[in-house]
Amino acid sequence: MTKQTVKLHDLLFEVYVAQSEVDAAVKNIAERINADMRNEPAPPVFLCVLNGAFMFAADLLKHIEFDCEVCFLKLSSYEGTASSGKIRELVGLNLELEGRTVILLEDIIDSGVTLEYLVSSIAARNPERIKICTMLFKPDAYTKNLPLDYVGISIENEFVVGRGLDYNQLGRNYKDIYKLIR
Ligand code: 5GP
Ligand code: MG
Repeated sequence: MTKQTVKLHDLLFEVYVAQSEVDAAVKNIAERINADMRNEPAPPVFLCVLNGAFMFAADLLKHIEFDCEVCFLKLSSYEGTASSGKIRELVGLNLELEGRTVILLEDIIDSGVTLEYLVSSIAARNPERIKICTMLFKPDAYTKNLPLDYVGISIENEFVVGRGLDYNQLGRNYKDIYKLIR
């Protein structure tokens, strides 16, 4: 059952994007990726950015119909409800990416600072190409020029939780996306 509002730590959140809408968006992305990757000579590799993208990756990969590899990497830069702007290092990427097709899986793209760092770190490993795939996107917050290949849902400039996204580690397990109200 969906609760209309939830309290996490000191803050109140309300339902913003319903589970069914997120599910449909994830399935839609998977169908587009399936179509685009039909003729790949070698199995593409999905790179899931932890922690936030774990649920998106699990949901998406159930709909992927070609042979693929999955690798989990981590890079944390975020505390509380505002981007700290600080970026730490990338860990867990222990896979040879040279010549591969890489599909980067993100939970949400906000300013794009994290994305830009990720893409340049991955590009340094000489993949054949990098596709960017995100469950949520805040177009009004985005400050970069990197084109996004697969966007699930574009949202307003709100702080959201659920579907892997947290507020100080809580809220990741919600099926719906909630936005901060106060
Ligand atoms: P960016 O570098 O694009 O500003 O921020 C990207 C990262 O910040 C995301 O991967 C996510 O971890 C975090 N982030 C950005 N917006 C939100 C949000 O609305 N809610 C939560 N929980 N995290 C966010
Ligand atoms: Mg993230």
